[in-house]
Amino acid sequence: MQGKLIIFSAPSGSGKTTLVKHLLSLEFGLEFSVSATSRQSRPGETHGKDYYFLSEEEFRGKINNNDFLEWEEVYGGIFYGTLKSEVERIRNNGNHVIFDVDVVGGVNIKKFYGDDALAVFVKPPSVEELKNRLEKRSTETEEKIQMRIAKAEQELGFESRFDVVIVNENMQEAMKKAEILVSDFIEGKPVNGDHG
Ligand code: 5GP
Repeated sequence: MQGKLIIFSAPSGSGKTTLVKHLLSLEFGLEFSVSATSRQSRPGETHGKDYYFLSEEEFRGKINNNDFLEWEEVYGGIFYGTLKSEVERIRNNGNHVIFDVDVVGGVNIKKFYGDDALAVFVKPPSVEELKNRLEKRSTETEEKIQMRIAKAEQELGFESRFDVVIVNENMQEAMKKAEILVSDFIEGKPVNGDHG
């Protein structure tokens, strides 16, 4: 049987990356889909592990080659995308694929794979809380934070296009919910998120 696809999407600051890392630490047979990006690597990030860091030119070349399952230009001039070869690589390893992508990418991957994919939308309890989280994280300039908040507000509108929602009020509870959703989906059981 081919590996299944599990998509985690969320406005920035909703905690999806923490949830994805948690799921990867468990024995679900999940492997992380490493995206390609044209942005600069941040301290501590590794090429081939966090992202495939490409120049804009390399990225555009792969777009022209039709190498991407989906790609997007996010935050003006920065490209992100999922390489078809990445999904194949993971499935050939006999693993399930887990994606950490933005909401548009998530919707596109779900459209492509249909019932083989579980699309999970992770939501902060409120926009206020999201602002607090982004400001606390403060790895970025105020301008970049404002850009992320504006994008996050727009992304919250995509919720209904996902299979299930996890409202992340408390990380421990969100982790438990994510574990149940993913294990049910892998076992072929019906899945129930916070909006049923
Ligand atoms: P960051 O720069 O903080 O790593 O990611 C910025 C945003 O791009 C996040 O919402 C992240 O999930 C999203 N992203 C990462 N990889 C992909 C991808 O392959 N496709 C799409 N559409 N978005 C991605």
